[in-house]
Amino acid sequence: MLKYKKVLLKLSGEFLAGKNKLGIDPNVISSICEDISFCLKSGAEIGIVVGGGNFWRGRDNKCSDKTKSDTAGMLATLMNSLIISDKLNSIGHICTIHSSIEIKNAISCYTHEKIIKILDKNKVIIFGCGLGIPFFSTDTAAAFRAVEINADILLKGTNVDGIYEFDPKKNLDNNRIYKKISLNDIISKNISVMDASAVALCRENNMSICVFNVGRSGSIYKILNGEDVGTYAFPD
Ligand code: UDP
Repeated sequence: MLKYKKVLLKLSGEFLAGKNKLGIDPNVISSICEDISFCLKSGAEIGIVVGGGNFWRGRDNKCSDKTKSDTAGMLATLMNSLIISDKLNSIGHICTIHSSIEIKNAISCYTHEKIIKILDKNKVIIFGCGLGIPFFSTDTAAAFRAVEINADILLKGTNVDGIYEFDPKKNLDNNRIYKKISLNDIISKNISVMDASAVALCRENNMSICVFNVGRSGSIYKILNGEDVGTYAFPD
């Protein structure tokens, strides 16, 4: 019996790139899809939101028009979504992509009614193109989709072991990792783990977040099974 059965998994583009930082590492795709597959076979229902930073991130690129730059970023999430859904299909799961930006003949458009039925039947679904609007990130999209599918928890897979007091990419000394932290504290202490809009949305909708190192194989199943992995961020 899983502790968390229906989850929203957020994967960053950077994670999919592996050591290269850009593009896609096929070994990372194989490994994460095997992890997801194991959870599905164990009875989980998984919605997936994928980032696009391994191809394009609106804020890092100097387009004169931010809306266009963000739209390029959203399309980047679709490339990752296609690769992951193809891998999951090849290992026996029916995984479809539902995009906030419609691409006729290639990718279905997101509607709430449709995805609830499909998730219930196929147990796995990928949400492409974030929220379909610029000036947002896929973290906020993940929070939205977690609430929309009524997930038991939002799983934010990162390259580090959880939420630290200070940004672990900048500060390695005297930096402690939280086992638990409230969503209020994340916002009030300005901890840079997710966009404030994503954390606030979870707080308003009573959605817990687990931030964990998705590169450690088997972590997702351990979390679903109620094991102590990463940082558990809870609404007050
Ligand atoms: N993006 C957007 N609206 C959304 C989601 C994403 O405009 O609802 C754009 C934004 O430019 C972002 C890019 O898509 O930088 C890729 O997403 P993100 O940076 O969240 O990817 P990650 O860092 O997780 O790989």
